[in-house]
Amino acid sequence: MSYRSNIENVRNRIEAAAYACGRDPRQVRLVAVSKRWPADIVRQGIAAGITDLGENYIQEAKEKIAALDDCNVCWHFIGHLQSNKAKFAIPLFEYIHSVDSVKLAREINRHAARAGKVQKILVQVNTGREATKSGVLPEELQGLIEEIACFENLSVRGLMTIPPVCNTPDDARPYFRELARLRDSIIECSIPNVCMDELSMGMSSDFEVAIEEGATMVRIGTAIFGERP
Ligand SMILES: *Cc1c(COP(=O)(O)O)cnc(C)c1O
Repeated sequence: MSYRSNIENVRNRIEAAAYACGRDPRQVRLVAVSKRWPADIVRQGIAAGITDLGENYIQEAKEKIAALDDCNVCWHFIGHLQSNKAKFAIPLFEYIHSVDSVKLAREINRHAARAGKVQKILVQVNTGREATKSGVLPEELQGLIEEIACFENLSVRGLMTIPPVCNTPDDARPYFRELARLRDSIIECSIPNVCMDELSMGMSSDFEVAIEEGATMVRIGTAIFGERP
């Protein structure tokens, strides 16, 4: 089986959504979410044109990335990261999308320094204010970024959010809009060493709405690989 048609379909939808709101589709990076899919399936996705992959669990990702180390792809960590796992994430991932505390940022910075790496990160925001979700609350975002901006082995690139489960794609719009508004408010603060180029938002069910609200990275699993095993 080939994933080529699913990928083509998703890319066409990304392109249509971008053009419809006057954006350049090249500003939207497709991150294919491969959690729970084995390496041989992921390899087929790469052969079909996937360039960016998102993983949620460190141990699973470690094995998969090792099995695919002959592939030229960019790996993104999109799951919840415990501080004590930070050191494992650094050699594996180009981007960590889920930084939501000073403690975690400090650990990433410490291990990145040891590894001689500047780790690209996004700050995850709990835009839906859900008790069960990771992410910093909107009112705590600026303080967090100000504290972590001075970490020399971190490169803050933008923001990420996972909205509450919604009935329709349009129901997710306020959360995406809130993330874009927060990005603008952080830019206003002109914090040194902080770049706000990336907005990681939008999944299989709602990525077109996320693109309309400014997403630069969409994280898509099911629409590419099918229902997870
Ligand atoms: C699983 C996951 C996705 C992909 O979700 P789909 O609905 O399968 O597209 C995106 N982002 C995060 C953080 C995830 O955990």
